[in-house]
Amino acid sequence: MSHRHSIFCILPPHMLDQVAQNGSNAQREMAARTLSTSSQIRDRRVNVASAVIRGAFTAAGTSQRTVYDAKFGTKLPGTVARKEGDTPIADVAVNEAYDGSGATRDLYSVAFGRNSIDNNGMNLNSTVHYDKGYDNAFWDGQQMVYGDGDEDLPPAERLFNRFTISLDVIGHELTHGVTQFEANLVYRNQQGALNEAISDIFGSLVKQYQRGQTAADADWIIGEGLFTTNVNGVGIRSMKAPGTAYNDPVLGKDPQPAHMKDYVTTSQDNGGVHINSGIVNHAFYLSAIEIGGYAWEKAGQIWYKTLTDKLTSNSNFQNAADLTFQTAGEIFGVDSLEQLAIKNGWTGVGITVNGTTPVPPPSGDGCLKGLLHSLGLAR
Ligand SMILES: [Zn+2]
Repeated sequence: MSHRHSIFCILPPHMLDQVAQNGSNAQREMAARTLSTSSQIRDRRVNVASAVIRGAFTAAGTSQRTVYDAKFGTKLPGTVARKEGDTPIADVAVNEAYDGSGATRDLYSVAFGRNSIDNNGMNLNSTVHYDKGYDNAFWDGQQMVYGDGDEDLPPAERLFNRFTISLDVIGHELTHGVTQFEANLVYRNQQGALNEAISDIFGSLVKQYQRGQTAADADWIIGEGLFTTNVNGVGIRSMKAPGTAYNDPVLGKDPQPAHMKDYVTTSQDNGGVHINSGIVNHAFYLSAIEIGGYAWEKAGQIWYKTLTDKLTSNSNFQNAADLTFQTAGEIFGVDSLEQLAIKNGWTGVGITVNGTTPVPPPSGDGCLKGLLHSLGLAR
Protein backbone atom coordinates (compact mmCIF):
# COMPACT_ATOMS: atom_id res chain seq x y z
CA MET A 1 0.00 0.00 0.00
CA SER A 2 1.45 3.34 -0.90
CA HIS A 3 0.41 6.93 -0.63
CA ARG A 4 1.75 10.22 -1.83
CA HIS A 5 2.92 12.11 1.23
CA SER A 6 4.53 15.49 1.73
CA ILE A 7 8.11 15.62 2.82
CA PHE A 8 9.09 18.54 4.97
CA CYS A 9 12.48 20.14 4.31
CA ILE A 10 14.07 22.61 6.70
CA LEU A 11 15.59 24.78 3.96
CA PRO A 12 12.99 26.51 1.84
CA PRO A 13 13.47 26.40 -1.94
CA HIS A 14 14.00 30.18 -2.14
CA MET A 15 17.28 29.91 -0.19
CA LEU A 16 18.65 27.25 -2.51
CA ASP A 17 17.39 29.18 -5.55
CA GLN A 18 19.42 32.17 -4.38
CA VAL A 19 22.56 30.04 -4.06
CA ALA A 20 21.88 28.57 -7.51
CA GLN A 21 21.76 32.12 -8.88
CA ASN A 22 24.44 33.93 -6.89
CA GLY A 23 26.92 31.31 -5.79
CA SER A 24 30.30 30.26 -7.09
CA ASN A 25 30.31 27.39 -9.59
CA ALA A 26 30.76 24.81 -6.85
CA GLN A 27 28.04 26.39 -4.66
CA ARG A 28 25.61 26.55 -7.58
CA GLU A 29 26.24 22.93 -8.40
CA MET A 30 25.62 21.94 -4.78
CA ALA A 31 22.36 23.91 -4.59
CA ALA A 32 21.09 22.49 -7.87
CA ARG A 33 21.90 19.01 -6.67
CA THR A 34 20.08 19.50 -3.35
CA LEU A 35 17.06 20.99 -5.12
CA SER A 36 16.87 18.07 -7.52
CA THR A 37 17.32 15.44 -4.78
CA SER A 38 14.59 17.17 -2.77
CA SER A 39 12.14 17.12 -5.65
CA GLN A 40 12.84 13.42 -6.28
CA ILE A 41 12.08 12.67 -2.65
CA ARG A 42 8.95 14.78 -2.83
CA ASP A 43 7.73 12.73 -5.78
CA ARG A 44 8.50 9.43 -4.14
CA ARG A 45 5.55 7.34 -3.14
CA VAL A 46 5.90 6.53 0.51
CA ASN A 47 5.13 2.93 1.23
CA VAL A 48 3.13 2.95 4.42
CA ALA A 49 3.55 -0.75 5.11
CA SER A 50 7.30 -0.24 5.05
CA ALA A 51 6.93 2.09 8.04
CA VAL A 52 5.84 -0.94 10.02
CA ILE A 53 8.72 -3.02 8.71
CA ARG A 54 11.15 -0.23 9.45
CA GLY A 55 9.99 -0.36 13.04
CA ALA A 56 8.50 3.11 13.16
CA PHE A 57 5.62 1.90 15.30
CA THR A 58 5.67 -0.15 18.44
CA ALA A 59 2.73 -2.20 19.62
CA ALA A 60 1.98 -0.08 22.64
CA GLY A 61 4.67 1.98 23.40
CA THR A 62 7.82 3.10 24.70
CA SER A 63 9.48 5.10 22.01
CA GLN A 64 12.98 3.89 21.12
CA ARG A 65 15.55 5.95 19.27
CA THR A 66 17.62 4.48 16.46
CA VAL A 67 20.13 6.48 14.45
CA TYR A 68 21.14 5.06 11.08
CA ASP A 69 24.05 5.96 8.84
CA ALA A 70 23.28 6.29 5.10
CA LYS A 71 27.05 6.45 4.44
CA PHE A 72 26.57 9.21 1.83
CA GLY A 73 23.99 7.20 -0.10
CA THR A 74 20.24 7.77 -0.43
CA LYS A 75 18.91 4.40 0.64
CA LEU A 76 16.80 4.68 3.80
CA PRO A 77 17.09 3.99 6.60
CA GLY A 78 20.75 2.82 6.26
CA THR A 79 22.97 0.95 8.72
CA VAL A 80 22.26 1.10 12.47
CA ALA A 81 24.82 3.36 14.16
CA ARG A 82 23.35 3.88 17.64
CA LYS A 83 20.30 2.47 19.41
CA GLU A 84 18.38 3.57 22.50
CA GLY A 85 20.58 3.21 25.57
CA ASP A 86 23.86 2.87 23.63
CA THR A 87 26.70 5.11 24.77
CA PRO A 88 27.87 7.92 22.46
CA ILE A 89 30.01 6.91 19.51
CA ALA A 90 32.77 8.80 17.70
CA ASP A 91 30.43 10.19 15.04
CA VAL A 92 29.15 13.57 16.21
CA ALA A 93 26.23 13.68 13.73
CA VAL A 94 24.95 10.35 15.08
CA ASN A 95 25.12 11.64 18.66
CA GLU A 96 23.44 14.93 17.76
CA ALA A 97 20.57 13.13 16.03
CA TYR A 98 20.23 10.82 19.03
CA ASP A 99 20.33 13.61 21.62
CA GLY A 100 18.15 15.97 19.57
CA SER A 101 15.37 13.44 19.10
CA GLY A 102 15.62 12.66 22.82
CA ALA A 103 15.36 16.35 23.73
CA THR A 104 12.30 16.68 21.50
CA ARG A 105 10.69 13.61 23.03
CA ASP A 106 11.45 15.04 26.50
CA LEU A 107 9.80 18.40 25.86
CA TYR A 108 6.65 16.74 24.53
CA SER A 109 6.59 14.27 27.40
CA VAL A 110 7.40 16.57 30.32
CA ALA A 111 5.67 19.76 29.21
CA PHE A 112 2.66 18.32 27.42
CA GLY A 113 2.32 14.70 28.61
CA ARG A 114 2.68 13.43 25.05
CA ASN A 115 4.08 9.95 24.38
CA SER A 116 6.35 10.54 21.36
CA ILE A 117 5.37 11.91 17.96
CA ASP A 118 2.11 9.98 17.59
CA ASN A 119 1.29 10.04 21.34
CA ASN A 120 1.50 6.27 21.18
CA GLY A 121 5.21 5.65 21.64
CA MET A 122 6.27 5.89 18.02
CA ASN A 123 9.92 5.03 17.59
CA LEU A 124 12.20 7.90 16.63
CA ASN A 125 14.29 6.87 13.67
CA SER A 126 16.90 9.19 12.18
CA THR A 127 19.30 8.80 9.29
CA VAL A 128 22.50 10.87 9.11
CA HIS A 129 25.09 11.31 6.34
CA TYR A 130 22.33 11.25 3.75
CA ASP A 131 23.69 11.70 0.22
CA LYS A 132 26.83 13.65 -0.62
CA GLY A 133 26.80 17.42 -0.29
CA TYR A 134 23.13 17.39 0.66
CA ASP A 135 22.17 20.82 2.03
CA ASN A 136 18.97 19.90 3.82
CA ALA A 137 17.16 17.87 6.48
CA PHE A 138 13.66 16.49 6.27
CA TRP A 139 10.86 14.50 7.90
CA ASP A 140 9.52 12.05 5.32
CA GLY A 141 6.35 11.09 7.17
CA GLN A 142 8.10 8.22 8.95
CA GLN A 143 11.56 9.32 10.01
CA MET A 144 14.13 12.12 10.15
CA VAL A 145 16.84 12.47 7.50
CA TYR A 146 19.88 14.76 7.72
CA GLY A 147 22.44 15.85 5.14
CA ASP A 148 25.98 16.87 6.03
CA GLY A 149 25.80 20.28 4.37
CA ASP A 150 28.33 21.33 1.77
CA GLU A 151 31.34 19.95 3.63
CA ASP A 152 33.02 18.92 0.39
CA LEU A 153 33.33 22.50 -0.86
CA PRO A 154 36.56 24.46 -0.31
CA PRO A 155 36.41 26.07 3.19
CA ALA A 156 36.02 29.60 1.79
CA GLU A 157 32.91 28.57 -0.17
CA ARG A 158 31.10 26.54 2.45
CA LEU A 159 27.67 27.87 3.47
CA PHE A 160 26.09 25.13 5.60
CA ASN A 161 27.31 22.93 8.41
CA ARG A 162 25.88 19.47 9.07
CA PHE A 163 22.13 19.68 9.68
CA THR A 164 22.15 17.86 13.02
CA ILE A 165 24.10 20.78 14.51
CA SER A 166 20.96 22.75 15.24
CA LEU A 167 18.63 21.41 17.95
CA ASP A 168 15.74 23.63 16.86
CA VAL A 169 15.98 22.10 13.36
CA ILE A 170 15.55 18.64 14.87
CA GLY A 171 12.62 19.85 16.99
CA HIS A 172 11.13 21.60 13.96
CA GLU A 173 11.24 18.51 11.76
CA LEU A 174 9.90 16.10 14.39
CA THR A 175 7.06 18.53 15.10
CA HIS A 176 5.97 18.06 11.47
CA GLY A 177 5.33 14.50 12.62
CA VAL A 178 3.24 15.69 15.58
CA THR A 179 1.20 17.97 13.30
CA GLN A 180 0.73 15.11 10.85
CA PHE A 181 -0.85 13.01 13.62
CA GLU A 182 -2.95 15.89 14.98
CA ALA A 183 -4.34 18.81 12.96
CA ASN A 184 -2.71 17.40 9.80
CA LEU A 185 -2.65 20.90 8.29
CA VAL A 186 -2.64 21.03 4.52
CA TYR A 187 0.85 22.03 3.34
CA ARG A 188 -0.20 24.97 1.22
CA ASN A 189 -0.93 28.72 1.61
CA GLN A 190 -1.95 29.87 5.12
CA GLN A 191 -2.61 26.31 6.30
CA GLY A 192 0.91 25.37 5.24
CA ALA A 193 2.44 28.50 6.78
CA LEU A 194 0.62 27.64 10.01
CA ASN A 195 2.07 24.11 9.77
CA GLU A 196 5.55 25.62 9.34
CA ALA A 197 5.06 28.07 12.22
CA ILE A 198 3.97 25.26 14.56
CA SER A 199 7.22 23.47 13.73
CA ASP A 200 9.25 26.60 14.41
CA ILE A 201 7.37 27.29 17.65
CA PHE A 202 7.85 23.83 19.14
CA GLY A 203 11.34 23.50 17.62
CA SER A 204 12.35 26.66 19.44
CA LEU A 205 10.67 25.42 22.64
CA VAL A 206 12.72 22.20 22.48
CA LYS A 207 15.86 24.32 22.50
CA GLN A 208 14.60 26.69 25.20
CA TYR A 209 13.58 23.75 27.41
CA GLN A 210 16.91 22.00 26.97
CA ARG A 211 18.79 25.19 27.81
CA GLY A 212 16.48 26.20 30.65
CA GLN A 213 15.86 29.59 29.05
CA THR A 214 12.99 31.97 29.70
CA ALA A 215 11.21 33.69 26.82
CA ALA A 216 13.27 36.80 27.49
CA ASP A 217 16.58 34.89 27.44
CA ALA A 218 15.90 32.78 24.33
CA ASP A 219 17.37 33.71 20.94
CA TRP A 220 14.20 32.71 18.99
CA ILE A 221 16.42 31.81 16.03
CA ILE A 222 15.68 28.75 13.92
CA GLY A 223 18.74 27.06 12.48
CA GLU A 224 21.28 28.61 14.81
CA GLY A 225 24.72 27.20 14.00
CA LEU A 226 23.69 25.97 10.58
CA PHE A 227 25.54 28.67 8.64
CA THR A 228 29.30 28.65 8.39
CA THR A 229 31.15 31.88 9.17
CA ASN A 230 31.14 32.64 5.41
CA VAL A 231 27.47 33.61 5.68
CA ASN A 232 26.24 36.93 6.96
CA GLY A 233 23.40 35.66 9.13
CA VAL A 234 22.46 34.14 12.49
CA GLY A 235 20.13 31.39 11.25
CA ILE A 236 17.44 30.68 8.69
CA ARG A 237 14.58 32.41 10.51
CA SER A 238 14.04 34.77 13.44
CA MET A 239 10.79 34.55 15.38
CA LYS A 240 11.73 37.69 17.30
CA ALA A 241 12.42 39.74 14.20
CA PRO A 242 11.25 37.95 11.05
CA GLY A 243 13.08 39.19 7.94
CA THR A 244 16.39 39.82 9.75
CA ALA A 245 17.92 36.35 10.12
CA TYR A 246 20.30 36.75 7.20
CA ASN A 247 21.33 39.19 4.50
CA ASP A 248 24.04 37.71 2.38
CA PRO A 249 25.45 38.14 -1.14
CA VAL A 250 24.97 34.43 -1.90
CA LEU A 251 21.89 33.51 0.16
CA GLY A 252 20.03 36.75 -0.43
CA LYS A 253 17.92 38.40 2.26
CA ASP A 254 15.56 36.71 4.72
CA PRO A 255 12.14 37.26 3.03
CA GLN A 256 9.90 36.69 6.07
CA PRO A 257 7.22 39.25 6.92
CA ALA A 258 6.36 39.99 10.56
CA HIS A 259 2.93 41.50 9.86
CA MET A 260 -0.15 40.79 7.73
CA LYS A 261 0.36 44.04 5.82
CA ASP A 262 3.49 42.44 4.33
CA TYR A 263 1.89 39.02 3.62
CA VAL A 264 3.54 37.53 0.53
CA THR A 265 1.25 36.11 -2.14
CA THR A 266 3.25 33.68 -4.25
CA SER A 267 2.94 30.34 -5.98
CA GLN A 268 6.51 29.41 -4.97
CA ASP A 269 7.17 27.27 -1.90
CA ASN A 270 3.60 25.90 -1.77
CA GLY A 271 2.27 29.43 -1.51
CA GLY A 272 5.05 30.82 0.67
CA VAL A 273 4.73 28.37 3.56
CA HIS A 274 8.27 29.16 4.81
CA ILE A 275 7.76 32.88 4.22
CA ASN A 276 4.41 33.82 5.76
CA SER A 277 5.04 31.53 8.73
CA GLY A 278 7.01 34.54 10.05
CA ILE A 279 3.71 36.26 10.86
CA VAL A 280 2.49 33.43 13.11
CA ASN A 281 5.97 32.91 14.58
CA HIS A 282 6.07 36.53 15.60
CA ALA A 283 2.58 36.41 17.13
CA PHE A 284 3.75 33.50 19.31
CA TYR A 285 6.91 35.36 20.26
CA LEU A 286 4.98 38.50 21.26
CA SER A 287 2.55 36.48 23.40
CA ALA A 288 5.34 34.48 25.07
CA ILE A 289 7.31 37.63 25.92
CA GLU A 290 4.23 39.32 27.36
CA ILE A 291 3.41 36.28 29.51
CA GLY A 292 7.03 35.93 30.64
CA GLY A 293 8.78 32.97 32.25
CA TYR A 294 9.32 29.69 30.41
CA ALA A 295 7.48 29.82 27.11
CA TRP A 296 6.61 26.10 27.08
CA GLU A 297 4.67 26.44 30.35
CA LYS A 298 1.96 28.84 29.23
CA ALA A 299 2.13 30.02 25.61
CA GLY A 300 3.37 26.56 24.62
CA GLN A 301 0.56 24.90 26.58
CA ILE A 302 -2.06 27.04 24.87
CA TRP A 303 -0.67 26.24 21.42
CA TYR A 304 -0.25 22.54 22.15
CA LYS A 305 -3.88 22.17 23.21
CA THR A 306 -5.00 24.20 20.19
CA LEU A 307 -2.93 21.99 17.85
CA THR A 308 -4.12 18.71 19.32
CA ASP A 309 -7.76 19.52 20.11
CA LYS A 310 -8.92 22.32 17.83
CA LEU A 311 -7.04 23.03 14.64
CA THR A 312 -8.13 21.06 11.59
CA SER A 313 -6.38 20.41 8.29
CA ASN A 314 -7.96 23.50 6.79
CA SER A 315 -7.37 26.05 9.58
CA ASN A 316 -5.99 29.44 8.54
CA PHE A 317 -4.31 32.27 10.50
CA GLN A 318 -7.63 33.74 11.66
CA ASN A 319 -8.78 30.33 12.93
CA ALA A 320 -5.49 29.89 14.79
CA ALA A 321 -5.90 33.33 16.37
CA ASP A 322 -9.46 32.68 17.47
CA LEU A 323 -8.77 29.15 18.69
CA THR A 324 -5.61 30.00 20.65
CA PHE A 325 -7.56 32.84 22.28
CA GLN A 326 -10.42 30.49 23.13
CA THR A 327 -8.01 27.86 24.50
CA ALA A 328 -6.18 30.44 26.62
CA GLY A 329 -9.54 31.32 28.17
CA GLU A 330 -10.24 27.66 28.90
CA ILE A 331 -6.86 26.99 30.51
CA PHE A 332 -6.12 30.26 32.28
CA GLY A 333 -9.52 31.95 32.48
CA VAL A 334 -11.43 34.48 30.43
CA ASP A 335 -9.72 37.88 30.59
CA SER A 336 -6.66 36.32 32.22
CA LEU A 337 -3.26 37.87 31.60
CA GLU A 338 -2.46 34.85 29.41
CA GLN A 339 -5.57 35.25 27.28
CA LEU A 340 -4.88 38.96 26.85
CA ALA A 341 -1.29 38.18 25.84
CA ILE A 342 -2.50 35.81 23.14
CA LYS A 343 -4.83 38.49 21.81
CA ASN A 344 -2.08 41.13 21.91
CA GLY A 345 0.34 38.80 20.11
CA TRP A 346 -2.07 38.47 17.20
CA THR A 347 -2.88 42.19 17.22
CA GLY A 348 0.85 42.83 16.94
CA VAL A 349 0.93 41.03 13.59
CA GLY A 350 -2.27 42.62 12.28
CA ILE A 351 -4.81 39.92 13.13
CA THR A 352 -7.83 40.82 15.25
CA VAL A 353 -9.07 38.04 17.47
CA ASN A 354 -12.80 37.32 17.43
CA GLY A 355 -14.40 35.96 20.56
CA THR A 356 -15.60 32.78 18.93
CA THR A 357 -15.14 31.16 15.59
CA PRO A 358 -16.72 28.31 13.72
CA VAL A 359 -14.27 25.45 13.30
CA PRO A 360 -13.68 24.87 9.58
CA PRO A 361 -14.58 21.44 8.26
CA PRO A 362 -11.73 19.05 7.47
CA SER A 363 -10.47 19.46 3.92
CA GLY A 364 -10.92 15.79 3.19
CA ASP A 365 -7.16 15.29 2.90
CA GLY A 366 -6.73 12.55 5.47
CA CYS A 367 -3.23 11.83 4.15
CA LEU A 368 -1.10 9.42 6.14
CA LYS A 369 -3.29 9.68 9.23
CA GLY A 370 -6.31 8.33 7.38
CA LEU A 371 -4.30 5.52 5.88
CA LEU A 372 -2.80 4.52 9.19
CA HIS A 373 -6.27 4.59 10.61
CA SER A 374 -7.57 2.26 7.95
CA LEU A 375 -4.61 -0.03 8.57
CA GLY A 376 -5.50 -0.02 12.25
CA LEU A 377 -2.24 1.70 13.13
CA ALA A 378 -3.54 5.05 14.31
CA ARG A 379 -4.76 5.78 17.79
ZN1 LIG B 1 9.27 22.67 8.07
